Amino acid sequence: MTAKILIYDTIIVGGGVTGFASAMYAARLGLKVMVIAESLGGTIALANAVENYPGFINITGFELAEKIRNHAMEYPIDLEEDRVVHIKRDENSLFVLTTMDRKTIHSKTIIFATGTKLKELNVPGEKKFLKRGVHYCALCDGGFYKGLNVAVIGGADSACMDALLLTQYAAKVYIIYRKDRLRPEPVTYNRIVKHPKIEIIYKTNVKEIHGDTKIDYLQLDNFHNGSDKLKIDGVFIAIGHTVLSDLAKELSVELNDKNEVVTDKNAQTNIPGFFAAGDVTNGMFKQVITGVGEGVHAAYSSYRYVTGTKFEYY
Ligand code: NDP
Repeated sequence: MTAKILIYDTIIVGGGVTGFASAMYAARLGLKVMVIAESLGGTIALANAVENYPGFINITGFELAEKIRNHAMEYPIDLEEDRVVHIKRDENSLFVLTTMDRKTIHSKTIIFATGTKLKELNVPGEKKFLKRGVHYCALCDGGFYKGLNVAVIGGADSACMDALLLTQYAAKVYIIYRKDRLRPEPVTYNRIVKHPKIEIIYKTNVKEIHGDTKIDYLQLDNFHNGSDKLKIDGVFIAIGHTVLSDLAKELSVELNDKNEVVTDKNAQTNIPGFFAAGDVTNGMFKQVITGVGEGVHAAYSSYRYVTGTKFEYY
């Protein structure tokens, strides 16, 4: 006699806010749900301040992620902290997931919410000074720079929010940006340009992070105040993210030229039963609030797929 296998209605791959919002709705809709993720929190957990999630005037990304996860876990959701290394489809159209810990898990649907990982600059000195001068999280490491000079690399929301946070500690904060106008949310831009501690260095890239036992200067590819060397004590890299869509690619899920999973407004991909939500998708506006909303759509689409019902959820 063959052993009966446990089949989930939906497995959510990803432990960020999108994944847990999706899990909560799927569980409320009565689906048997698992969330599987190597680490919990997602990239928003590194954000020092979220000021645009309705209901919270200002909250750290970590706290918001924790609140959403704790809320979800009030429902019957199985949580597996493990890395999915492979997803395939068997002859019964079930998705079969294999994990790093050599577990095999079966599900009728997948909600793919793997998000992104932080991009590295890939210049000499970046690895050498990691956590000893080179950082990717201003919230975590900004406090080491009281009264010192720091630089932030990047020109969008993360870089600008990091620069503002760092002004609480540092004497001076440079933003080094490769183009000629920063592009965060306008409200953030206005705060940056007025801030007395912030100086923006435009049209410049960092070629090397130089130093012996600690960082001495950044080698720039352009001159600033007559020098192409910028003396600083620490550097925060905030140059965006790489989309984590490799597992979907293996299943022939359609990706666009940025490797984002192509979805419709109901979070459906080209593979029936495989839904995707949040930063891993081709959504135009990537915010916590949009990820959460897309996750909820994915849960409902999964519910409709599993039950075959036309039930409208008002
Ligand atoms: P983005 O991808 O939006 O921006 C990355 C920035 O880094 C851009 O300015 C880019 O330059 C620059 N950059 C990329 N690669 C390099 C490189 N190799 N060398 C130098 N500069 C480089 O990433 P973010 O992390 O800022 O934002 C990601 C998403 O998260 C966005 O949608 C953002 O709106 C959202 N977000 C929301 C927050 C909030 O709601 N509070 C806070 C933080 C992020 P270029 O401009 O030339 O492309």
